[in-house]
Amino acid sequence: MKALAIRPRQPRTLHLIEHPTPSVADVEEGRGVLVLVLRVGVDGTDKELHSGDYGEAPPGEDVLIPGHESLGVVVETGPAVPREVSPGQLVVATVRRPGGSIYDQIGLQDLSTDDAYWERGISRLHGFLSEYYVEDHRYLVALPGALNGVGVLLEPMTISEKAVRQAFEIQRRLKVWSPRRALVLGAGTIGLLAALVLRLRGFEVVVAARRAAPYRNSDLVELIGGAYATTEEVSLATLSDHRGPFDLILEATGFSPLAFEAAEVLAKNGVLVLLSVTGGERRAEVSTDAINQGFVLGNKVMVGSVNAAREDFERGVDDLVKAEALYPGWLASLLNVPVHGLESHERLLAELFENREAIKVYVEVAAGKADKGGGG
Ligand code: BGC
Ligand code: ZN
Repeated sequence: MKALAIRPRQPRTLHLIEHPTPSVADVEEGRGVLVLVLRVGVDGTDKELHSGDYGEAPPGEDVLIPGHESLGVVVETGPAVPREVSPGQLVVATVRRPGGSIYDQIGLQDLSTDDAYWERGISRLHGFLSEYYVEDHRYLVALPGALNGVGVLLEPMTISEKAVRQAFEIQRRLKVWSPRRALVLGAGTIGLLAALVLRLRGFEVVVAARRAAPYRNSDLVELIGGAYATTEEVSLATLSDHRGPFDLILEATGFSPLAFEAAEVLAKNGVLVLLSVTGGERRAEVSTDAINQGFVLGNKVMVGSVNAAREDFERGVDDLVKAEALYPGWLASLLNVPVHGLESHERLLAELFENREAIKVYVEVAAGKADKGGGG
């Protein structure tokens, strides 16, 4: 089968390869599922993989098939796969697989303390930018056929699902926490999906990002009842005075100094969740006394969150269905830059690195075959 591959830690190596088609028998005890890949989204992690800054090939191999935001349809199943995962079923695979830490051993690999982690399309496991993949049914999440068009947004959505779930989990310490106001930093795919998740939970949502409104992303925020602010014109402190204080802040800009600016405006008893995987070496001057005192006197929390658990994918499916009902067409408008076929990898790179209007760049891997299987 055709696949795309990179040579990890070497710059600019994305290329087309011929790769052995996997088989359901590759997974032990009859749990294998062969999936036809319909669409795969790409993001900042894929940029870093192609730039040589991040990622690792599977042990003993020198290339890695990237792609961790998938949508596919089941083609064939092993004998021990339950009936919910039958041929024709639309599925998304989770990304991280268990390693050795105690968290991994109890199914919480998204909270792993291992330094070497296993993530499909990112670290030590091939991803989904290929015609087919095989996976253990336990790592597949079923989607209703109605999500055929937008289901490829599930994986990026789960980053925010986990962030919000973690915040509520932590805040059980407060017994009566009922947050009202949320601030999302960043208006890219993660920021927009975070705003959506929070609106579906009834939050008043402000999204702050660098670019001045109006543009597509600020319009999308307003369409779901959120407010948009540009950080070029208004400081987070002013924003907090006018619209806050913010009980929950999600940081998804990739600009790490903003995390500390956000820490300064977090409400008492508030939670700040950091989501940006910042690979650089940026340093900044920070108001340490003010932040420290605010956190102590206000019992505040700052927490990092990576990847997502199966329950975040399941909640994500429900939220995608709700979003389609409440805001028809909204999710589809995030998928604004399709690239047709794995052969178009040059085009894929150009869109990913240079298209400033792109919200989600994605590859239509098997668009022709999609309609046949996607109804299940
Ligand atoms: C992926 C996560 C992954 C993280 C770190 C993100 O792009 O969406 O699933 O855990 O990168 O590798
Ligand atoms: Zn990602």
